[in-house]
Amino acid sequence: MDQPLISPEPGVTLLSKQQGCPVCGYAMNAVGQADKPPVQTVPPKPGDFAVCMRCVCVLVFEPSMTLRILTNKEWAVLPPSERMDLTRMRTRIQVMHATVGPPGSRQEPTS
Ligand SMILES: [Zn+2]
Repeated sequence: MDQPLISPEPGVTLLSKQQGCPVCGYAMNAVGQADKPPVQTVPPKPGDFAVCMRCVCVLVFEPSMTLRILTNKEWAVLPPSERMDLTRMRTRIQVMHATVGPPGSRQEPTS
């Protein structure tokens, strides 16, 4: 089945297949939406952006729904509001890294 699965958590969509970040290899199996109201769970579509939770690079969904790196040229022609949203999202992830560490850096509970 190629359709993304809808997770019960609002604003988060599970991807139909796990993908590695093209920059750092971080395995991604879900995407969340920027919290612009109203938060709805809408599966990603070609041309939508994603930000890697580990290396915070900006990615874009290809027509095949694989992820690739957004080029500097593409970034330069984005509307300012879109660039601001992506920058805000990257900052939020970096703040999370500063407080709890990047994904995979936490100690798993032993009990
Ligand atoms: Zn990455």
